[in-house]
Amino acid sequence: MNSDNSRAGARSRLLALLALSLSLGAQSASNQSTEASAAVATNWDLSDLYATPQAWSASYDRTQAAAARLDHYRGTLGQSAAALFAALDAISSIRRESDRLSTYAQLKADEDTRVASDQERRQQAQGLVTVISEKTAWLAPEIIAVGAARLKAFEAADKTHADRFGFYLDDTLRSAPHTLGSEAESVLAGAGDVLSQPEAIFGQLADAELPYPEFTLPDGTQVRLDESAYEKYRQAADRSERKAVFDAFWGAWKKFEGTAGATLTTQVMGEVFSAKSRRFDSSLAAALFPDNMPEAVYRTLIAETHAALPTLHRYLKLRQMRLGLTGELAYYDNYAPIFAPTQAPAFSVSQAQPITLAALSPMGEDYLSLLRRGLAGHWMSLLPHPGKATGAYMNGSAYDVHPYLLFNYIDDYGSLSAFAHEWGHAVHTLLTDANQPYEKSNYSTFIAESASIANEMLLNEYLVEHAPSKAEKLYYLGVGLESMRTAYFRQVMFADFELAIHEEIEHGHPLSGARMSEMYCQLVKRYYGEAEGVMKIDPAYCIEWAFLPHFYYHFYVWQYATSMAGAAQFTDAILKEGPAARQRFLDMLRSGASDYPYELYKKAGIDMASPAPYQALVARMNRYLDRIESLERER
Ligand SMILES: [Zn+2]
Repeated sequence: MNSDNSRAGARSRLLALLALSLSLGAQSASNQSTEASAAVATNWDLSDLYATPQAWSASYDRTQAAAARLDHYRGTLGQSAAALFAALDAISSIRRESDRLSTYAQLKADEDTRVASDQERRQQAQGLVTVISEKTAWLAPEIIAVGAARLKAFEAADKTHADRFGFYLDDTLRSAPHTLGSEAESVLAGAGDVLSQPEAIFGQLADAELPYPEFTLPDGTQVRLDESAYEKYRQAADRSERKAVFDAFWGAWKKFEGTAGATLTTQVMGEVFSAKSRRFDSSLAAALFPDNMPEAVYRTLIAETHAALPTLHRYLKLRQMRLGLTGELAYYDNYAPIFAPTQAPAFSVSQAQPITLAALSPMGEDYLSLLRRGLAGHWMSLLPHPGKATGAYMNGSAYDVHPYLLFNYIDDYGSLSAFAHEWGHAVHTLLTDANQPYEKSNYSTFIAESASIANEMLLNEYLVEHAPSKAEKLYYLGVGLESMRTAYFRQVMFADFELAIHEEIEHGHPLSGARMSEMYCQLVKRYYGEAEGVMKIDPAYCIEWAFLPHFYYHFYVWQYATSMAGAAQFTDAILKEGPAARQRFLDMLRSGASDYPYELYKKAGIDMASPAPYQALVARMNRYLDRIESLERER
């Protein structure tokens, strides 16, 4: 997976590391791990899900047959509390088994993507999900038709079921103003395929048909400069080489500025059309609706990041000095490592576990005992092998079993950080599942990513603290800083751009590739401090927006930036206050999806619409810079 182009999944408990931080490992040596310590189980055991593939098939057939009968409940919800909850119970238990079936199918397919029968099983599982959604398409409209008063009476009559389904019922009622009549709903459903085409066109261009340039490396080797080669060679220590990489790569994209612009304009128009059809004030409001996230969170994130640009500039000045540049920085100077040790630190498989446990000790014994339980089970596929799916993820969808984790561990810092990150998702899942019914266990990405990014932060601080040499401390501090640039400032800049292009369409202004490059240029200049003399931006690179898949996810990726800010405020509080802050954080993780993420943060003492979390992240960045300056003075 690479830093910018991993696909963000739908809202579910399948949490891929968005590789915002994973990419940082790319600069380290990739010494393949051959040692598999006896203490660490490196292969998952899928028999916890189904004892055999035949057992999976038998459950699939039963579930499929039961799903096909779900529309029998249609028209019964308003009859009585018993009828309402009988229907919800039946649907819920089918979804629960379907989640388990999908988990097995997904994991089995990822073990070796070359095995056709395993890929077919995954498609079968997806087919079942489609059947369930078709057979329950009537559910939300019927709940809305029954109405709040009757539903409340039913809930009062059956507290046990009300506790499981109450939040879902309220949430469904909340969508009433944005639910249309059946004729309009079926027109919108029919338009869905058409509206998803811009992303397909983008993928076709970026992944297949764009003629990426041939590029000659200093040793004479010819490489095709596609995305992954670009992300590798832009880190070149030699300035003229990284400039040549930028010139070649963005030169290729620039030739498709009009195509990329028309494609993205169509995407934005589609989102604006859907939002308007559903009576939302804006496309942003529509995107925030499912999580019930106040728009103030988005606006505060952007405003606070603008106010914090001097801190980004302070980091860039350090970069300029470390790179030994006398003049201004250029956009292609962003990726050359500035604290590269002669040998990048390596972490074997057998070290990953004790280091992670030690680094997460501020989370307390309850947390660590869950983590130990997970590490002792056969829950993860750790090492890379031919045919295995790439990247890293945690899949916590099998509510009745336990989380599973996939890694491609190669002994470098990026691998270790991904290990801490994904195990953060796994412990979150365990805390949720132990405290919430299945119906309230599908937690939001806003909560999930703060749980995992907090672990990355604690790991980074632990390694800085325990590094045996000054050079190694500087290396970890450098990695920590770069993750705040790429996973926070850069992502907020994307969020800023995404909002701007939507508002252009909403205000009736035309968009084009050239106009988007102009808008993007203004943002890059602002963020990277051109007026302040920090970085000179060559407009040739302002085509960068064209290669980012982020803008096809409808205001999705910004939640990683807010989560990082939330994680910064939580880890600060946990390290400073200890048990009380820890308790608030863990209670939030135990709350699963029993409330909206904004409310859950608030109960944990963090207001995501206030400046505090963003300022905590910026303070953290300044602390890292102070630390580097004082270490360098010691030399
Ligand atoms: Zn994650």
